[in-house]
Amino acid sequence: MEENSREGEGSTMKEEKINPFEMAKKQVDIASKYLNADPGLLEKMKYTKRELIVHFPVKMDNGSLRMFTGYRVQHDVARGPAKGGIRYHPDVDLDEVRALAMWMTWKSAVVNIPFGGAKGGVQCNPKEMSLPEIERLTRRFTWEISSMLGPDRDIAAPDVYTNPQVMAWIMDTYSILKGYSVPGVVTGKPIELGGSLGRFQATGRGVVITTLEALKYLKKSVEGAKVAIQGSGNVGGISAEHFRRLGAKVIALSCSRGGIYNERGLDVTRVLDRKEQYKCFVCETKDETEVTNEELLELDCDILVPAALENQITEKNAPRIKAKIIAEGANGPTTPEADEILNDRGIFVVPDILANAGGVTVSYFEWVQNLQELIWGEEEVMDRLTRIMQRSFKEVLDISLAKKIPMRTAALVLGIGRVVEATKLRGIYP
Ligand code: NAD
Repeated sequence: MEENSREGEGSTMKEEKINPFEMAKKQVDIASKYLNADPGLLEKMKYTKRELIVHFPVKMDNGSLRMFTGYRVQHDVARGPAKGGIRYHPDVDLDEVRALAMWMTWKSAVVNIPFGGAKGGVQCNPKEMSLPEIERLTRRFTWEISSMLGPDRDIAAPDVYTNPQVMAWIMDTYSILKGYSVPGVVTGKPIELGGSLGRFQATGRGVVITTLEALKYLKKSVEGAKVAIQGSGNVGGISAEHFRRLGAKVIALSCSRGGIYNERGLDVTRVLDRKEQYKCFVCETKDETEVTNEELLELDCDILVPAALENQITEKNAPRIKAKIIAEGANGPTTPEADEILNDRGIFVVPDILANAGGVTVSYFEWVQNLQELIWGEEEVMDRLTRIMQRSFKEVLDISLAKKIPMRTAALVLGIGRVVEATKLRGIYP
């Protein structure tokens, strides 16, 4: 939640709305061909378990009441409690939340942590709301969905335009309802309230760790590699800073209003600080130029990191993508049609359910620390994160090579396979 102006919201990216839930179900069909499993169980994977739609009023600063619509969807809990972020965005709808919940299930299974998948969202534009309005919206939404939440049931986390402060309000509201503090009901909390060291950096770090593994496999170096990043929030911003530290050249960064490009490499910290100040990217030197979100995706670069919203790489622009590696920080940035084109063109894709799984991995660490009342040091968190991301990358790559299938299909085969197996072992009751 890093911008305050609403100008340009959503206008730069989506020409037509591709239904993400249809896309997610199509991915299950693609992976199912490589899974030797009961067709009935594979069909089950395409359904969400539980969905709640809530309409609720919020008192605005001018004294008026405004109605909002929110969602919480649990996709699957065979492997553990449901887990997934909460998004505040004007485009949030039920199918988007369903797709994001399904991807959370596969993601938790790919990195082999004992969580199922969930997601939530409120259709709103936080950029045109004051902080007290966002707080009232958050507390009321938490109350509305509280019957689904709980540290053993369904654990929330940040997503687009929600942040540690929002998580603190969720935790506080849920705790008031229970009568005692329940830090384990959300992850991505401020450190002072039981948040884990390293959680804020986790998703971006995971994107970089898996990209490094891809580079190693392709026998390329990160040193001097040209990186273009769409989105500069939690995932995009942290990835950019870490790539820069490792000696890569971050040549472009963007936000909802467009981006900034310098083929010699941006001074990432300075550019992000300026963005914070002006609420958009402002060119400062003669080497820097403006770039649209569409242009950014097609820049001549080695690594492309989509780190904003869904449906950015489609059959329309996939033929023009020049990157050699795409590391998906965002959830669902590539359509199945685009996937085929990228695959034919030999572009190496580190798929979302692997590349951005660092977030849920450290969320799991945060939950474990909360339940056991432990505090781990940052080094311990990062070591554990690195090991899990490297192991998961290798597992996906091995399947991809053995079955001669793209990395996304391999990740889906691994994730869905684990969920199907867990479902089979538990059995269908009654
Ligand atoms: P954020 O709110 O911190 O940042 C979102 C970024 O997207 C901002 O830079 C914003 O300007 C940009 N953006 C919004 N609308 C845009 C548009 N129309 N065109 C271009 N850019 C636009 O959110 P985040 O947490 O960084 O999430 C980004 C993506 O990563 C989402 O797909 C999210 O689901 C995924 N993700 C996040 C996490 C996490 O831990 N935060 C974990 C896994 C996946």
